[in-house]
This record gives sequence, C-alpha cells and structure tokens, in this order.
Amino acid sequence: MRDRLHDLRLDALLVSHLPSIRWLSGFTGSSAFLIVEPGSATLITDFRYRTQASEEIWDGVSVAIAESDLFGEVARCLDEAESGPRVGFEDHSLTVRDRRALGECCGAVMWEPSGPLVDELRSSKDSEEIGSITQAVQLAEQALEALLGIVAEGVSERDLAAELVYRLRLAGSESNPFDPIVASGPRSALPHAKPGGRRLEEGDLLLIDFGATVEGYCSDMTRTFVLGSPAAWQREIHGVVSEAVRAGVAATEAGVPARDVDRAARDVIAEAGFGDRFGHGTGHGVGLEVHERPGVNSRSRETLHAGSVVTIEPAVYLPGRGGVRLEEMVVAREGGREVLTRFPLVLREL
Ligand code: ZN
Ligand code: ZN
Repeated sequence: MRDRLHDLRLDALLVSHLPSIRWLSGFTGSSAFLIVEPGSATLITDFRYRTQASEEIWDGVSVAIAESDLFGEVARCLDEAESGPRVGFEDHSLTVRDRRALGECCGAVMWEPSGPLVDELRSSKDSEEIGSITQAVQLAEQALEALLGIVAEGVSERDLAAELVYRLRLAGSESNPFDPIVASGPRSALPHAKPGGRRLEEGDLLLIDFGATVEGYCSDMTRTFVLGSPAAWQREIHGVVSEAVRAGVAATEAGVPARDVDRAARDVIAEAGFGDRFGHGTGHGVGLEVHERPGVNSRSRETLHAGSVVTIEPAVYLPGRGGVRLEEMVVAREGGREVLTRFPLVLREL
C-alpha cells in the first residue's frame, strides 16, 4: 500500500472503512481511523477500545486513544508526524459530515479522494485469508446439511431461516454475513426475498442463500431444492443454471477480466432462452465483506488476480412460478481456479 501512496504522490492515507482498517492493522472495533504514512501507521480509536486495540493491533502500527473526538486526534497525529500536505481519504466510505469535520480540524491538509485503494489490494487474498474463507464455506455446508433434515411440508420459511442461523452459530460461525434468504414456491423468483410466513408445499422450489464467518472472513452460497419430485420446467431451469455455473467457474482465472466471467455464465442462460430472466450480476468478491471487489458483472472493469475469491451465482427467475439460483465460491489462480464450495449442484429432492 505504501508503494501505491508513493505512486499517487500522497504523503499519507486516512483509512476510514472499517474492514480495510481491520485488513491493514488487525483492529476489529467499530470506531476508528487509521493513518498510514511512509514510515509509520497509527490507529486512532476511543476509550472503549483501549485494551482491545492493544491486544489486536499488529506490529508496526501504534495506537492513539482520542481524548475527545477522533477528528481532533487525527489532526494531532498528522501534525505531530509533520506529514506533507497531501493526505488521501476514502471517498467511498467517509461521510460528507466527517469530511467537513476533518477539513475544520486539519486546516493545512490538502485532502485528496483516493478511491478504493485498499479495497483493490484486498481483492487478492493470501493463503491465510483463503484458509479462513474455506472454513467459513465448510461451516455453512455443515449447517445446510443439518437444516435439510427438518425441511418438510408445513414448515415456514421464517422457521427454516431461524433454524439455519442457530445451526450456523453451533457449527462455529462468528456472525451472519447477511440475513439468510429462504424463499419457497413462487417466492423463489424474488432474487432477494425476506423469509416470511409462507409454509412449504409439495412441489415447491426452495431457495436458500446464506453464509458463515470465520476470523472475520465470509462465505456465501446458494442452493435451490425441490419438495418431492420436480416438474419438467423446474428440472429445465435448474439444468440451465447448473450449466451457467459451470461455464462461469471454468472462465474464472487470474488475469481474466471479471466481465468475461459474467459473459460466460450469462451466455448459457441467454442461449437457453432465459436471458431476460437473469437481471443481476453473475457474482462478486468475498472476503472481510460479503460483497467486495471485484464485481463480476457486465459493467465491471476489474481483472481477476491470483487469489481473488469470487462467487458465481447465475439464476433464472420465472415470476409467479419460481426461480433457481446456484452460487459457488471460487478462487482465481494462475492458469486455473479452485472451487471452495463442495455441496453438490444436482437438483436434490427433499
Ligand atoms: Zn449469496
Ligand atoms: Zn453472493
């Protein structure tokens, strides 16, 4: 990151996005700034995190506890460090109000929007990070397998979602990266359905999208099941989506533009005649955040790096009838890929 600061002719970077602060310093609290300079890094937090910060923080980062507010401490640190006047800030994370407060506190600083500089670096994971993500995938798969034991006609989506959260925690997940989606019957055609009171019926599609967290790192997976034996249309769209997943996975590789991966999956769905039934991106990066760089969609200008972890989650939604989405997690490698999700893709009858 210091190389990037040098390239951008910045004298320092003020990091405000909490997952990026964690990634750079180890700190997991909810209130902090991190100032990175060529020869030092300082975490600024408040009284509540005095002990936690000293325990969590990595070598090479010092901790400053703000006496009154964080902004005053930022000014003091920048002043003390005799920083040059050009300080980058994360314009996708810092609020307008905080930017104004910093302007008032640090009169001499020339603030430069730095864009998602740290986020870009985070999009390539090392083996330790991939290890945590792999564990999060495995915990999620265990919890899903346990959940399927109680799926039956008459059980509500909301009850299944509650049970899934409970099983995830028992399996060792630290938190939910997002509220699980459990959508049954016609509701499976809603891409971001909230689990509701609908009770499962024979012949329903059942879409479950959820994840686990290990060491702060997330997993994200989707499977769609059927209660009883599938109708021909259910079998057809499940087959199309499975094929699209395989095409997207096969296209995932270091050096490939993310939009090419999107196109590989999308083409399969379009060729099967369901192009207008798949209206979202094919996937996204996953790490300390469940949605992070790179975006795997038709507008993406990002390239996959070795160690980029992305989801491949094409879908076909038939309004009023039902939908199928399947989501895998894949690591891009030089000359290939590694699929982290192990749960079978076949249409499982419950
Ligand atoms: Zn998902
Ligand atoms: Zn996802």
